[in-house]
Amino acid sequence: MLLKELGEFGLIDLFRNGWPRETADVIKGIGDDCAVLDPGGERLLLVTTDMLIQDVHFSVKNFSPYDLGVRCIAVNLSDIAAMGSARTFSFLSFGAPPDMETAIAEAFMDGFRECSLRYDSLLLGGDTVSSDRMVVNVCVLGLIERERVLYRGGAKAGDRVYVSGFLGDSAAGLELIKNPQTSLGLRDRDYLSARHRTPEPRIRLGRLLSQSGQVHACIDLSDGIASDAGHVCRESGLGARIQAENIPISNACRKLAQERNLDPLTWSLFGGEDFELLFTASPEIGRNLQAKSRTELDLLVTEVGEMISGQGVRLVRGNQEEDITSKGYNHFR
Ligand code: ADP
Ligand code: MG
Repeated sequence: MLLKELGEFGLIDLFRNGWPRETADVIKGIGDDCAVLDPGGERLLLVTTDMLIQDVHFSVKNFSPYDLGVRCIAVNLSDIAAMGSARTFSFLSFGAPPDMETAIAEAFMDGFRECSLRYDSLLLGGDTVSSDRMVVNVCVLGLIERERVLYRGGAKAGDRVYVSGFLGDSAAGLELIKNPQTSLGLRDRDYLSARHRTPEPRIRLGRLLSQSGQVHACIDLSDGIASDAGHVCRESGLGARIQAENIPISNACRKLAQERNLDPLTWSLFGGEDFELLFTASPEIGRNLQAKSRTELDLLVTEVGEMISGQGVRLVRGNQEEDITSKGYNHFR
C-alpha cells in the first residue's frame, strides 16, 4: 500500500501502534494539539512540533524569509493556544543549502524572533545542518497551570461550537499567491495573502478560554473545520452539526471566490491553515466568551453549530444535511 492510500492519519496510527502503555506522568500522548506531561509540580508541560519543507509547504518565490520565520513559530504557538496557552520555549532545527545568502537566514530569524517575543516565547536550542533545500522544524514546550489545559475530548452533547476569526482566508490567500491576476483592491489582496503567510496564533483567546474554566473542548483549525471538528467529535464520542450559513467568511474571501467562480465555503470548510480556534461550551458560557473576546481582544467569535449524540461532522445547508467528516487537508493526498 502506498502512503497516499494510507493517508496522513493512517500513517500516524501506524507509528502509534506497538508502544508500551503510557505511564502516569503522560497525561496525553499522541492525539491532541500538544502532548501533556506531568513533571510533578504546579504546572504541566505541553509539547508540540511542526515541520515546514521548501517546495512542499512553501516556495521561496511566494514567501519572504521574514514571513517564513513568523509562520514557523506561529503554527506551533497555535497548537499551544488550542491547549489553553502557556509560557513557551522553542527549539529550532534548521536545514539550508550552503550557498544560501546569510541575509536570508537573518531575515528568517527576525521574523521568528519578533513573532516569538510578541507571545513571550524564547528560543532555547535546536540543530543546524546543511541540506539541498530549506527544512525547518520547530518544537515548542509550554508550561501551564494544571487545571487550565483544554483538550479535544470533553465536548458535551448540547454544547455549541464556536470558531474565532474568519475561515477560508488562508486558502483564498494561497489561491491569490498562486494566481495573482485579480480585480481585488490592494487592501483585500494584502489581507488575504497575509492571512496565509503570517497567521496569528490565538494565544490570547486560548488563555481567555482556559481561564474561564468552562470550555469543554478546543482545537486549532489547521486542516479545515470539517477535519478538525471531526477530531473533537471522535475524541469526545459525539457528533457535530455545523450550519453552513453561520460560517464566518470575510468580505475579501467572498469577493475572490466570486471572481474565481468558486464557493467560498469550500475554502472555509476544507482549505485549512486558518489557525483559528474551535471550541465548545454551553450556550450561556459561549455567549459570555463571545462578548469578552470582542471587548477584550477585538476578536470575532462565531457560533457555528452544536455537538450532538452520534458521530461525524454534519453540514446543514438549507434543508440538506451532508456528512463532511475527514474531508479536510491530508498531507499525502
Ligand atoms: P496538529 O495539526 O495539531 O499539529 P496533527 O494532525 O499533525 O496535529 O497530529 C495529530 C497527532 O499525531 C498529534 O498528537 C501529533 O503529535 C501526532 N503525530 C503526528 N505525526 C507524528 C509522528 N510522525 N509520530 C508520532 N506522532 C505523530
Ligand atoms: Mg493543532
